[in-house]
Amino acid sequence: MTDTTKTLCPYCGVGCGLDVSPPAQPGKAINRDSQGNPIWKVKGDRNHPSSQGMVCVKGATIAESIDKNRLRYPMLRDSLDQPFRRVSWDEALTHIVSRMRSLCATQGADAICMYGSGQMQTEDYYVAQKLLKGCLGTNNFDSNSRLCMSSAVAGYVQSLGADGPPCCYEDLDLTDCAFIIGSNAAECHPIVFNRLQKHHKKNHDVKMIVVDPRRTPTAEVADLHLAIHPGTDIDLLNGIAHLLLRWGYFESEFVSECTANFPAFAEVISHYPPDIVARRCGISVEDLETSARYWGTSKRVLSLWSMGVNQSTEGTAKVRGIINLHLMTGQIGKPGCGPFSLTGQPNAMGGRESGGLCNLLPGYRHVQNAQERAEVEKFWGIPAGRISSNWGRTAWDMIIGLETGDIGLLWIVATNPAVSLPDVKRTQAALLRSPFTVYQDAYYPTETAAYAHVLLPAAQWGEKTGTMTNSERVVTLCQAFRPPVGEAKPDWEIIAEVGRRLGFADKFPFANSAEVYAEYVQLTRDRPCDMTGISHARLAQDPIQWPYPDEGVRGVDLGTRESCKRLYTNLRFATPDGRARFSAYHSRGLAEPPDAEYPFVLTNGRLYGHWHTQTRTGRIEKIKQMHPQPFLEIHPRDAAKLKIQENDLVEVRSRRGKAQFPAKVTKAIAPGTLFVPMHWGALWGDETEANALTHPEHDPDSHQPELKACAVQLIPVALKANVSKLKDNFQQNQSNEIIIRITS
Ligand code: SF4
Repeated sequence: MTDTTKTLCPYCGVGCGLDVSPPAQPGKAINRDSQGNPIWKVKGDRNHPSSQGMVCVKGATIAESIDKNRLRYPMLRDSLDQPFRRVSWDEALTHIVSRMRSLCATQGADAICMYGSGQMQTEDYYVAQKLLKGCLGTNNFDSNSRLCMSSAVAGYVQSLGADGPPCCYEDLDLTDCAFIIGSNAAECHPIVFNRLQKHHKKNHDVKMIVVDPRRTPTAEVADLHLAIHPGTDIDLLNGIAHLLLRWGYFESEFVSECTANFPAFAEVISHYPPDIVARRCGISVEDLETSARYWGTSKRVLSLWSMGVNQSTEGTAKVRGIINLHLMTGQIGKPGCGPFSLTGQPNAMGGRESGGLCNLLPGYRHVQNAQERAEVEKFWGIPAGRISSNWGRTAWDMIIGLETGDIGLLWIVATNPAVSLPDVKRTQAALLRSPFTVYQDAYYPTETAAYAHVLLPAAQWGEKTGTMTNSERVVTLCQAFRPPVGEAKPDWEIIAEVGRRLGFADKFPFANSAEVYAEYVQLTRDRPCDMTGISHARLAQDPIQWPYPDEGVRGVDLGTRESCKRLYTNLRFATPDGRARFSAYHSRGLAEPPDAEYPFVLTNGRLYGHWHTQTRTGRIEKIKQMHPQPFLEIHPRDAAKLKIQENDLVEVRSRRGKAQFPAKVTKAIAPGTLFVPMHWGALWGDETEANALTHPEHDPDSHQPELKACAVQLIPVALKANVSKLKDNFQQNQSNEIIIRITS
């Protein structure tokens, strides 16, 4: 293969297009990595509509990870204290299918769970939904989007009637005021942020407000940084709304004709006068008033948010609080404005569209809606009533199910819950109790592989063809440019083969992923995410933004059938009466506020170079040098009180666990608040897991855990009587694979 192949960066939800060309170029030496593997050449795709040729360090170095630490063959063991042995695909799948059959007969299908990932392509997601929810009749499919975007989903659905960010990236160039809350976009969504920053720099009247307890690189360039106390977002949002209403920045015609529930909202925000809000948030009244004035005097306000909003026991209410501001000022459905969630993962959006959470079905349908269940059952040709009307197990419910013994088989796909779930020591203990865990991933070792009975090698980015949807609803065909390593297979093929062996051969007749996609898009017909005009063949020409019904007009407003780039341009929303809903919600604050025993609030987040649990980025030299170790950000005043100096090792303890980090003394973090990066699992350091500290309390609507805040205490390590160190769980052998020992 010599031609350039078009694909998508498989990291964050910005969804940057990539051009990939083979390592061997005429007349040039082959570039190789430290293990001697040829490195494919990757650069930004100038023709991709979302990224226009831009990539960050992760996208630019992605090719260096392709051959490192790959899982190449199926492997099996009877218990976790045994070594894995290599087996054939047939033996591995026979083992899994026999276990599934026996569980269905004894405990029922609800004893089977699959935990997937925003790394999966839409075709992978769709086939998994069909197997679990359609064929087996259990809704126990959840994905790590539960930890990432599920509050945004719930907020959009409750306020606007359907999931789906209404904005597009062009709005970054058109806005008068960017309101960035709970997002360090400069590090976590750099290409989106660069575009916004360029617009901001060029146009001096354009304002940028950043709400974040940390002075992040995003906050550094803002006109106004509101360093609110963690857990006071709702106070701030209601406080801004209070001022907008008081000052008359209010679109009464839009509110009366296009929205509902305004009186209840107005009553709630009447309790949020500036002095009270400023005191609760820990900001000045002047700054609060400035933020409201920026909002009120701007014609086009664009809100951007991410995990800092979503990962909260009030995540849904926060999302709705942001949308409230857009509704009261009529800032939605027009160029340059609207509520715009920035997706964490490359295909979290595709997962949402294809039903990849335990409360969803394909086409933005919900398991609790009888008509929507019936539509899917009819389409799949399965008996009426097969799809359960109950939510399946969320990610955290799966952990509880392992603890109670209600789960007999856990199938994990392309994610690393032994690092990424909250209260990770409890998570790891639950995983140890799993009677049977299938781990399907492209990489080995990972922390989660230690808990698996079966390892299934998955083809990854570049080795399979499929689709992904980015934050602005643009669907890109990610084309394969080389064969899978070893015996690895695409996720959808593995899941479909299990379905066939379970006796559902007629439901999985697909010869390739294009056929999977062709079937899937039929389930989006006349839905808010209508993609019936999209196919792999059409996407091979260029990426396409949905809605894209099969009339074949780019970006259609489903209300008017007119071409558009944004949703709700006709100001009719996806609710039964077409009106958007105001929410009326009082602030409750953190689930675990600081107290005398645990006096600090610990927050966590990502760094510019690393991705999630470092499965890929931890193997890339440039990124390792950029971020060699985790750290604890602490304000100088707190550091002085505890006699902590720069680089001192500090033990952080919560009610659930402990971790150790070198101190980074900085005014970037507010007094009383601490920050650690979340990328380090047991493979990358001793006692450096951020999630050893976090708790699993979650939002009642979205079930998204409050990963962003927990109460902790600090102990400088030098002061401790005994400094205990975890023994290495991992020992590298000569073939550069890793033997995993489970220690009790
Ligand atoms: Fe990849 Fe996100 Fe960086 Fe774009 S911004 S190159 S999608 S990690």
